[in-house]
Amino acid sequence: MSSPVYHLALNPASHPLAPVVTPRHLAAVLQAARGGTSAGAAAVWALKIGVAPSGAAALVAPALVAAASSTLGGSRSFSFDTVSITTRGLEDPSLLREQARRQGLDGNPEAPPFKVADAEEFNEGAGEPGAPARGLSGATALAVLDPVRPHPHLGFGGVVAELGLGLVPRAAKLALHRDVRPAVDTPLCAGCGSCLDVCLFDAIRIRAGRAFIDHRECTGCGECMSACFMAGIAPEDDAGVGLFQQAVADSAAGVLSCFPDGGVYLVLLVGLDRYVAGPGKRLPLALDRGRLLAGTDPVAVDQAAWDLLEEACSGNLRNWHGYRQRPEALLARAGEIGLGSRDYRLVEVGPES
Ligand code: SF4
Ligand code: SF4
Repeated sequence: MSSPVYHLALNPASHPLAPVVTPRHLAAVLQAARGGTSAGAAAVWALKIGVAPSGAAALVAPALVAAASSTLGGSRSFSFDTVSITTRGLEDPSLLREQARRQGLDGNPEAPPFKVADAEEFNEGAGEPGAPARGLSGATALAVLDPVRPHPHLGFGGVVAELGLGLVPRAAKLALHRDVRPAVDTPLCAGCGSCLDVCLFDAIRIRAGRAFIDHRECTGCGECMSACFMAGIAPEDDAGVGLFQQAVADSAAGVLSCFPDGGVYLVLLVGLDRYVAGPGKRLPLALDRGRLLAGTDPVAVDQAAWDLLEEACSGNLRNWHGYRQRPEALLARAGEIGLGSRDYRLVEVGPES
């Protein structure tokens, strides 16, 4: 049976986001999607927001919190983020808290309390994939906002990836990446050193004017792949990527089982034009308007987002972000294990609905 995915078209398609995605927009899709959850007035909502220093997530986070507070209720609800294994500065909980404070999300009596869900030593030692970060205990329902962006091993970072990767402790994030082994395509490498600058694990050296990855140090995070303007770094083989995607889907199922009242998942397709790049060229992304999708089926929401993206890129997503990966194994596994349905129907929603 197909799952409903609520769809709201935004205008214009790209930045600046702040006036484009308002609490009213978010409340409209949240309200529409919420009917699919068992969450009652006593539910404790955990709101996953991105408080990265820049980008779509940070711009929309305050609007999501405002909309969720008025739409979802739940007196003990809270918003949260988790540390990153890849992005310099976002591996430090104090910087996440500072960013949340600047956005009016931390220390604001009008907003639900904000926490870094894996702040306690990143929950090191307790980091099994499939178990949410310790700071999420007590929540019974989940609201996740995921601004679509490229992901080196998935094609895009959707809701399932957010559940399986983004909500688990740092040690679990690292464990999930273990099957991915990036390698440098030596003829393509210009020896510029950009990949060295972003590697938090000091796994890259320049030898004879070319980059070299030491797999004893490499975590498989993929940050170097995003940094290489020549698209000169890719996983050694597709098998590792497939295993990674399946492990993320399994982890997402484990995480979700800890929220008995279910969840509401929102995906934003906005500001994507900056990702339309390939080696040495930029192409227009034919996304006429920004999109906001929501539903209670994380697989259906992801499939709808992916289909819209493929349509906008005329089926050639390599021109969007320069990677050849797609979330096929992730969504297939997610469907197989009952996380949701890849069969969906779009239901149009207006901000006044
Ligand atoms: S970023 Fe790319 S081109 Fe530059 S050193 Fe690294 S692999 Fe080579
Ligand atoms: S070399 Fe490995 S650890 Fe370093 S950025 Fe690349 S994938 Fe991550």
